[in-house]
Amino acid sequence: MPSRTVVHLVPHTHWDREWYLPFQSFRLRLIGLIDGLLDEMESDPGVRFTLDGQTATVDDYLEIRPEHADRLARLVADGRLAVGPWRILMDEFLVSGETLVRNLEMGMRRAGELGRAMPIGYLPDMFGHVAQMPQILRRAGIGDAVVWRGVPKAIDRHAFRWLAPDGSSVRCEYLLGGYGNARDLLSLPDRIEHKLDRFLNDQRAAFGEDEVLAMYGEDHSLPLPGYAPLVASFNQRQDRYDVRIETLTEYIEATRGHAAPTLAWTGELRSSARANVLMGVVSHRVDVKQAAGRAEHMLERMAEPLVALHGGAWPERLLELAWRRVVDNSAHDSICACSSEATVAQVMTRFAEAEQIGRGLTEGVLRAIGRHVSGGAFAAVNPSPTARTDLVELDLPLDRSPVGSPVVLPDGVLAPTQDLGVVDRTLDDVVLAAGELVPYLRRRMHARELYAHQVNGHRLSRGATETVVTLDVDIEPDPPSLDVDALLDALEAQAARTPSATWRLLVVARPRRRLLACVPVPALGWTAVRPAEPGRVVAPTDPVSAHGRTLTNGLVAVLVADDGTLTIEGGGVTLTGAGRLVDGGDVGDSYNYAPPATDLLVEHPLRVGVQAGEPGPLRASLVVTRAYAWPVGLVPDLSGRSTETVETETRMTVELRAGEPFVRLAVEFDNEAIDHRLRFHVPMRRSADRTFAEGQFAIVERGTVMEGGHGERPLPTFPAHGLVSADGAALLLEHVLEYELADGPELALTLLRATGLISRDRHPYRDEPAGPVIAAPTGQGRGDRRIAFALLPAPEGRPTEATLAALERYRNPFLLAVGEADAGLALGSAEGLAVEGDGVVLSSLRRRGASLEVRLVNELDCEVAATIHGPFQTVRAGDLLGRPLADAHPVAGRAEVVLGPWEITTLCLGSRPAAD
Ligand SMILES: [Zn+2]
Repeated sequence: MPSRTVVHLVPHTHWDREWYLPFQSFRLRLIGLIDGLLDEMESDPGVRFTLDGQTATVDDYLEIRPEHADRLARLVADGRLAVGPWRILMDEFLVSGETLVRNLEMGMRRAGELGRAMPIGYLPDMFGHVAQMPQILRRAGIGDAVVWRGVPKAIDRHAFRWLAPDGSSVRCEYLLGGYGNARDLLSLPDRIEHKLDRFLNDQRAAFGEDEVLAMYGEDHSLPLPGYAPLVASFNQRQDRYDVRIETLTEYIEATRGHAAPTLAWTGELRSSARANVLMGVVSHRVDVKQAAGRAEHMLERMAEPLVALHGGAWPERLLELAWRRVVDNSAHDSICACSSEATVAQVMTRFAEAEQIGRGLTEGVLRAIGRHVSGGAFAAVNPSPTARTDLVELDLPLDRSPVGSPVVLPDGVLAPTQDLGVVDRTLDDVVLAAGELVPYLRRRMHARELYAHQVNGHRLSRGATETVVTLDVDIEPDPPSLDVDALLDALEAQAARTPSATWRLLVVARPRRRLLACVPVPALGWTAVRPAEPGRVVAPTDPVSAHGRTLTNGLVAVLVADDGTLTIEGGGVTLTGAGRLVDGGDVGDSYNYAPPATDLLVEHPLRVGVQAGEPGPLRASLVVTRAYAWPVGLVPDLSGRSTETVETETRMTVELRAGEPFVRLAVEFDNEAIDHRLRFHVPMRRSADRTFAEGQFAIVERGTVMEGGHGERPLPTFPAHGLVSADGAALLLEHVLEYELADGPELALTLLRATGLISRDRHPYRDEPAGPVIAAPTGQGRGDRRIAFALLPAPEGRPTEATLAALERYRNPFLLAVGEADAGLALGSAEGLAVEGDGVVLSSLRRRGASLEVRLVNELDCEVAATIHGPFQTVRAGDLLGRPLADAHPVAGRAEVVLGPWEITTLCLGSRPAAD
């Protein structure tokens, strides 16, 4: 008798937590689904289930059915119900590497509490996979991955070795045909053998003689009830197939040792060869990507490191809540925003909550630092793990800040400043009858507060026709205490004496000078400064200046051409025509861009204006305004753009700072057109034929073509998280943006992709629909848009440590703490934690119990020895989840660590010497 073909049948559901319906709507379905699943699993021991690799499905259920926690945990402990290892099935490209780590950390912990995490990097529906995923999994103790989308044509077997740039590898199972490739296998009980024949036929080339994996499940649904007895009877009545109902864990564990994969792939998986990667989600709803970037940055690089080093009690629960918001939003349909209006609104609210928590915690640290600094002085706070000199804006009372005054540093040295002008504001100016004056004030004042200022006193002046009363207010109470009732009583008495007179009330804020100061600050520390005495002058060593249409700082020079584009010279290259704005039609949807059959590209402005901004010497800027006639939309049959246009003025702020080798840019406009795409073009050197994009712990090299095959136009539009560079320039980013190295060669950055449908069935650039045809008109991005980034001219495309240092500087502006201590404290400074090492990037710094945990990444392709200085006495290597890999050893505030190329390392820095 011939041996039977073993088919491992894995029942599961793919659970998009929110998508074309919002979270609560899908959760209502989830409750019924898991209710039924628990009943079926308990009544039939043959049933197995894989709960989609994410613990959110479990927690969303138990929030409503807490009484079923034990039932669920029993099935997990028995190995019949596979949960985790992720908290959520994320998109990998649109979030930071740290968000990927926190997602895994949350999911592994929760699945462990339930009994056991599925030890598989299950990634069934993500729109491609990032290069460092094998390292992320390996460093969390996971040796297997399961993927579908993005797998290149070269991988024609069901299993391959997937390697990260550092050389880490996992065994990777490829789900040819998708996570639901056997969804239909049991739908006709008397046709199972026939369906299996067809399935095997489709999978034969991928599996060869190997036992076969069949994924039995689909979106938001349970497999057929009673499938276990159906399979049992099928196995009995024929002898060609042996169908085994298993969890994904059981399949992987049963077959892992059979044969080592012969194929290997290094780096990201972003091919459209056999499934859509839906690359247009990167540029759809840029506002969602901006919100993600703000929330992640606030938590990763501001709140956690600063509270860890300079804050009080560790706000564990608040940070956990903020991170849960960010991780939940990293779900692929959530961050991709290829979702209903209601879903997008909830995503934005979650990001706002995460950012609010991060900002509030950061402000708390700044107040704590301010208590070490006298009133009238300030502290500049450096969020980078390297000593840096950068700018802060100080707001000073005019009488304490003479024009041109520098600031004094703790060592007595003077630091240069730039006068940003006097802020002199009249907050109210009203004429009142005598009897109305005090009632008017009483209705508006709350104790001493008036219009968000403190009342500090009043002045009277009598004219021929009216009496003028001026209330002096300021953001600081000065004098410290004031009897407001006495002030109002005095005014009331005066008014009563001249009942027929007219009174004019002026509320005038104390004039304050805004001063830009250039301050050196230690790594992750602070430096206190105060304004110098009158008469002292100091000039910056490398000032920036503005003349007419040019800006220059000795490192970069910018000239605005007549058409509003920029000629940028620096780093040994000259870029001419940078900043050309090109607007074209978009007849696609949230997943994929497509131009109309007859497109019209609008790139010539109707008018160009150049206005002077700040003059230097520390910060200088120009504002370039360009007005365009953008078509209001598409023609009714979608074949082209409408002839009706809307005049749109774009405003580009071009800024140079002293000592910075890059140009800061911000493009603003009020978008009233629909169904279009706006890109910012930068001409590159002629040699530019590849790009290098930073994100998720790696810098990925990409060409100008993308592999296709499945019926999706393989547009070479790619995501970049931190930066993208090619021969000529690097663009430094604040959040994920889409780029393309277009013909020219030019680097085109997508600033807006306006569409109004989740998915379109008849899509010129995609055969297979990506979702339901549902209108989502806010996807048109109407209203005010602002996108900021920076341009670093550089001849070589491949980023160096200098590129990474520029990115660190651009992304991490200094913060300011206002002095609150009594006068007379000497100016101080403090160092937090310093990391020295070319190309070494700080991903995370937080407290874990009594220790500090720091995560560093080497983002260069060479080994580097990094040195860490700080308030610690022991160091211990940990895995990605913080579990110890070795014993702690004493180091007394200085540790050296060698990072291999592209290595992610996590270290636990203890406050006490090791016990031995
Ligand atoms: Zn999905």
